[in-house]
Amino acid sequence: MIAAVDIGGTKTAVGIVDSDGRVLARQECQTGAEGSYADALQRINEMLRAAAKTAKAQISGIGIGSTGPVYPLTGEFGEVNFFPHWRGQNPVADLAQTFQVSVAIENDGDAAALGEGGWGAGQNKKKLIYVTVGTGIGTGLLFDGQLYRGVDQSHPEIGHHLVDPSGPACVCGFRGCWESLAAGPAMVAWLERNAPPEYPHRADLTAKRICELAQQGDDWAMRVINNEGRYLGLGLANLVTMFVPEIIVLGGGVMKSAPLFLEEIRKTIAASCRLVPFEKTELALASLGEDSNLIGAARVWYHRFGWEGGTRAI
Ligand SMILES: [Zn+2]
Repeated sequence: MIAAVDIGGTKTAVGIVDSDGRVLARQECQTGAEGSYADALQRINEMLRAAAKTAKAQISGIGIGSTGPVYPLTGEFGEVNFFPHWRGQNPVADLAQTFQVSVAIENDGDAAALGEGGWGAGQNKKKLIYVTVGTGIGTGLLFDGQLYRGVDQSHPEIGHHLVDPSGPACVCGFRGCWESLAAGPAMVAWLERNAPPEYPHRADLTAKRICELAQQGDDWAMRVINNEGRYLGLGLANLVTMFVPEIIVLGGGVMKSAPLFLEEIRKTIAASCRLVPFEKTELALASLGEDSNLIGAARVWYHRFGWEGGTRAI
């Protein structure tokens, strides 16, 4: 049984995942990013032991998916926005020592791509791009069974490619990158900026609430949806033009409302990608549900060590 650890900015989940990608036991806690790495590691250790006990399983390997940047080759955290004090800490080495098993780590976008490619919507697809749209936009590129990496094992930040240079400023340094225009918070920001002061739903606006309001026919929420579909479509059209993947798998909180956006996305791709066979790129919704990151984390271990557990090149 492979244990999985999904480290997010807010929450950390662990689980025991069988060789068919089923989660047999899971535990969750606050990541506690403001606290020390040692405390967080201690919580992960305890949750892993508890989950293994619940599943009556012996842990034979551990896969980690983490909000990035992380260094898969060394196992270290890079300069992660959410937990800046953990930079240089090495959960791969630490968990390997505690549990005496092999451990692998990847960026959580890559982990989810591996999960969807192995056990989810992208099974048997040779060229897969995973896109998660929530508080940010994360991606994973899985080509011929291997994750695409940049130099020094780096993870490309496709969520931050430029869509509109006159758009909002982002921490990445660009104005108008895809994430700044199309992630959940961008929907809220657009509505707050454009709706009149007397708009009745200003309090507690979230991307989810806006989608609900749009379904009820709220005019301003429907404008946000159109806008969001357009920006999602522009970024996805860029991916289709650059990579012409066999499938793009869409996940994340905003994509729970995907039917609201899909028509505009398809229209934008059809209008923008005429130099490539865009109609051959399938758009699919992620199928692993709430546990997709966790299931992907388990798949990280298989991707690194293979089904027999032997080391292979990454
Ligand atoms: Zn950016």
